[in-house]
Amino acid sequence: MNPYPLEGIRRKPELLAPGGSFEKARIAYLYGADAVYVGGKALNLRMRSKNLGDEDLAALAFLARRSGKGLYVTLNSLMRPRDLGPLKAALEYLRDIQAGGVIVGDPGAVLLARELAPGLPLHLSTQVSTMNHLSARFWEAEGIRRINLARELSLDEIQAIRRETSMELEVFVHGSLCVSYSGRCLLSHTMTGRSANNGHCAQPCRWTYRLVEEKRPGEYFPVGEGPDGSYILNSRDLCLIDDLPRLARAGIDALKIEGRMKGAHYVASVTRAYRRTLDACWPPTVDAGPDHTSRNDLLAVSHRPYTRAFLFPDSPQSPPEIDAETSLVQTHTLAGIVRAMPRLQGEDVDIVKPSSQAAPSWTCLEVRSQLRLGQTLHFLFPDGRTLRHPLQVMENHLGQSLATAHPNTLVRLPVPFSTFPLQVVRLSRPH
Ligand code: SF4
Repeated sequence: MNPYPLEGIRRKPELLAPGGSFEKARIAYLYGADAVYVGGKALNLRMRSKNLGDEDLAALAFLARRSGKGLYVTLNSLMRPRDLGPLKAALEYLRDIQAGGVIVGDPGAVLLARELAPGLPLHLSTQVSTMNHLSARFWEAEGIRRINLARELSLDEIQAIRRETSMELEVFVHGSLCVSYSGRCLLSHTMTGRSANNGHCAQPCRWTYRLVEEKRPGEYFPVGEGPDGSYILNSRDLCLIDDLPRLARAGIDALKIEGRMKGAHYVASVTRAYRRTLDACWPPTVDAGPDHTSRNDLLAVSHRPYTRAFLFPDSPQSPPEIDAETSLVQTHTLAGIVRAMPRLQGEDVDIVKPSSQAAPSWTCLEVRSQLRLGQTLHFLFPDGRTLRHPLQVMENHLGQSLATAHPNTLVRLPVPFSTFPLQVVRLSRPH
């Protein structure tokens, strides 16, 4: 029997955010993640994400250790015989750089990891679909330290598992959902030859479908599910921010945000929202929910309509996973990312001081959306503040005034507050 009764809280849940690239992993840490999960260049389920090369992995492992954060590396694709060589090399490398843990889904990978890297903590991927405490105990006996439970469990079922095992339990709280059991889907492979189980999903469940009568090729009949067409396989996005007090009370060890394919704006906003809400409801006798800022952060990023999916199967809204409204919605977009101000290093450098009086409040921005004077920039701070700044002055690296700035350029602008490198800056989207 679990020595930890349901209400016997062990520790504050870890907030785990996606790190789709070296930069996004560092942004996740800055905006409040206790740990990030990342993919290397092989054998993970997000092969279309930028992922991290060996040097970035080593640098991030060092950064994580130095700052007391977690770093977990995904090796969770289904392994074919040809994958076992790269798997061996990856495990040895992760052992050598002292990664905080590795996320696996294949029993062979568990076996090999125990043999080659016995000190490397093993986390079981949600793709294994662990749905009861006996499965959890099985994996614990096999050397798994933490299980990411199946997304398809209700809160009652999660609590039942918690009562029967003391191993670390992790649940997804936010992000995209599969219309099938996570990853156990052949749709993409069948329709495009790209396997979801090896990280190449083309997401055909999000596509628009029409009806064709076989003797009338080329005639596409609309299926009138909604005004925008028919998205019969399209899932809403998971959002459990209102349920953090319940999950914390249930003794869940880690809360995971999905989204290694998402951008810096998503990582900063969603991590900040969950960080602040989790802090507000801890200790878990407090039933605090998300405040206005956190709710706005979740609406600001690109998302489908939100759902609590399987957590409360008897609620009238459940199961609302399929939605005719497939279009992604968002109230804001990424304007840019703050960079360290280039320094003058000598007479012959092509970087000059800003043309106005050089002030400590000049900030350097890597532009990600087209900027125009007159717009209002929103600078996101990890503590929940969002400082607005009307864009009245903007210069290029030669000190020339700009009226507009294009994506992937560097500009500098005077702001009346301190900023920091990797700070995320957003813009309202026109309605
Ligand atoms: S096609 Fe859709 S349901 Fe299937 S694995 Fe890809 S995202 Fe998931």
